[in-house]
Amino acid sequence: MHGASGTAEQPAAPSASPFLIDIPVLPAEPPGTLYVVARTTPPPQITISASTYDEDDAAEELAVWLRANGVERPFLVVSGHGQGLRRHISGATGIAVPGRHATRGWARLCSGAARGADAVVAIGGGRCLDVAKLVTVGAGIPFIAVPTQLSHDGICSPVSVLPEAVGGLTDSFEAVAPCLAFFSRPTLVKAPIASLRAGIGDLLSNPLALYDWKLASVAGVEQINHAAWHLSAESFLLIEPLLVEPLGPERVDPALVGLLAQALVTSGFAMMAVGTSRPVSGAEHKISHAIDFLFGGRAHHGAQVAFASLVSLALHGLDVEGFRQCLVNLGLPHHPRQLGLSHHDMVAALLRAPSTRPGRFTILESAALDEAKATVLVEALWGQS
Ligand SMILES: [Zn+2]
Repeated sequence: MHGASGTAEQPAAPSASPFLIDIPVLPAEPPGTLYVVARTTPPPQITISASTYDEDDAAEELAVWLRANGVERPFLVVSGHGQGLRRHISGATGIAVPGRHATRGWARLCSGAARGADAVVAIGGGRCLDVAKLVTVGAGIPFIAVPTQLSHDGICSPVSVLPEAVGGLTDSFEAVAPCLAFFSRPTLVKAPIASLRAGIGDLLSNPLALYDWKLASVAGVEQINHAAWHLSAESFLLIEPLLVEPLGPERVDPALVGLLAQALVTSGFAMMAVGTSRPVSGAEHKISHAIDFLFGGRAHHGAQVAFASLVSLALHGLDVEGFRQCLVNLGLPHHPRQLGLSHHDMVAALLRAPSTRPGRFTILESAALDEAKATVLVEALWGQS
């Protein structure tokens, strides 16, 4: 969580009352409406380990599960955090260990080595899974995901986010979604708590993405897909009970990581139902992308998205203070200073945000902020600089 130190104002005491963002009301369809559902990929089959605290038990479970799914000769892409989980897997045709700086070029090199395997099995964090999605494209075999962190809802999506070269800007592009995913609860329980907080943060934006989608629908520029809408709402409702109390290490247990895994996968299904991130990504994601572009990533994606949701709430006229308290409870950034950003930086990010995803109509396009309006908004949210 680079730059996410506690330099902002002293947070208020934890909220005693339940925090809620109301899911917006789904607009009625005209009778006889026909939908063409762009389900580009079938949703993966998900397994959550029966093991709760012993990672070696989960590693044995994983090896048995792979064989039960017909995987005899996997090509493994394994990060440092995944080494414990791979120890009982046999018959591997090769093992690639992506460093933190793995690129698209590196993934293409691995693709050749993976040919001849019966599946690519990735065991690791976000970068590891993103690399493996590309290795799979080149090798033309199924992809199986074994995430060791729950920091965002792209785990089961077909989108890969990687730079072309070391030190280059990252870009999102279509790759391969997993056909199977295995969640080891012992591994996920011991993952850094910042990653869990970010995973919850990514889901906090789902209701706001739905408000934006509804806005686009009312403006006549997009049609709402009801299945995707309900999946996005459901994934938020799954984690909503976690928001009302402080999230410290003592609350992280196998039940919590199992619930979060289910919620993140459900959010991924919402994207897969329409073939885009529209059901789970609105203005708050644009603001986070603008921060990445202008200043470099300042925290996990999900943490930045949760923080930027304050802007969306204010523009939609929703309950900012209740949400701010929720960020405090979760240990997520709620003031620009926690991301090393000034008020001026935030104004720049708000002005840049619409162009990060042209064509996606959100509350930002509706508000049409100029510098003066953006400054007023930033000061209304965080006071005078
Ligand atoms: Zn996201």
